[in-house]
Amino acid sequence: MGAVAINDVKKQTIIRRKVIQWFEDHGRSFAWRNTTNPYHILIAEMLLRRTTATAVSKVYNSFLSQFNNPTRLAQTRESTIAHVISSLGLQSVRARQLKKTASIICKSYSGKVPISYAELISLPGVGVYIASAVRNFAFGESIPLVDGNVVYFISRVFGIKYRGPTDSDARDFMTHFGGEEQNAKLYWGIIDLVATVCFRRNSRCHICPLSELCTSSKTGDRINEDT
Ligand code: SF4
Repeated sequence: MGAVAINDVKKQTIIRRKVIQWFEDHGRSFAWRNTTNPYHILIAEMLLRRTTATAVSKVYNSFLSQFNNPTRLAQTRESTIAHVISSLGLQSVRARQLKKTASIICKSYSGKVPISYAELISLPGVGVYIASAVRNFAFGESIPLVDGNVVYFISRVFGIKYRGPTDSDARDFMTHFGGEEQNAKLYWGIIDLVATVCFRRNSRCHICPLSELCTSSKTGDRINEDT
């Protein structure tokens, strides 16, 4: 993204505040949003890959009560882990990655989730988004997050099309849009708006806090919707 015009900065600030306010009033409550425990957040983000928050919420508490620390998880058979998360799908792959990651955390990091980006992203099943989410949500670092929801949200609200979550321009955009704070509530608000209001078909623009500002609402354009 090129230089951000003054008007764009103002618009971005207004939209950012509206999303955060909407989240505070209407956002969904999930256990992993009420903690800064790095292990709990890492587990949540790993489970949230390729499934919905609602689905994860049905197994999350049970998972953590059985595997309440990396040592316990590392000592458990993959088949047992897979059974606990079978409702999410891809349970064998998830179980293998969860167990391996827990083992590495125990062996290399004294049982504590590492804080550095390089160490996080080296863990099995942890990519750019999960590493960034753990740093932001657990360690309070002001860093942007970009996933399919975010790219979709940008396309709808700002009319900007990015190639996908790995597009560095999308990350640059969120660096500006998220502001210095990169507030977790902004990201949870985006996730919840996409999940409950801004549907791909029949968006509920009439109840959306961004209806006056949203490019897609004004033009009816629907771009980049396969990301
Ligand atoms: S105004 Fe409509 S299209 Fe725009 S973000 Fe809200 S729900 Fe989505």
